[in-house]
Amino acid sequence: MNESTNCPACQSEHAYQDRDLWICPECGHEWSTTSGAEATAPAEAGVRDAHGNALADGDSVIVMKDLKVKGSSSVLKGGTKVRNIRLQDATDGHNIACKIDGIGAMNLKSEFVKKA
Ligand SMILES: [Zn+2]
Repeated sequence: MNESTNCPACQSEHAYQDRDLWICPECGHEWSTTSGAEATAPAEAGVRDAHGNALADGDSVIVMKDLKVKGSSSVLKGGTKVRNIRLQDATDGHNIACKIDGIGAMNLKSEFVKKA
């Protein structure tokens, strides 16, 4: 295995490895060899709608199917536009908190809405 690793900063051939870091003695640049390390930016775990669009606080969404409103006999009709959503951590998947005219505060699952 001839791993000729040149310094990505100055192209020096004298870079040496120290654990999982490479160090260039000429310019002092250090970089990681762990492949994909630069791709490990914290995953955007954000809330996404049914089409995979990222949602944010204050967005408007459209409900895609009739949803029963918990604790009441009302049904939130598919096609209803919900304004000013608020994202929340939810263990049960109801990651959108919102207020709907005629129904009141309720929680929605992002998979049943699309960004308006
Ligand atoms: Zn260098």
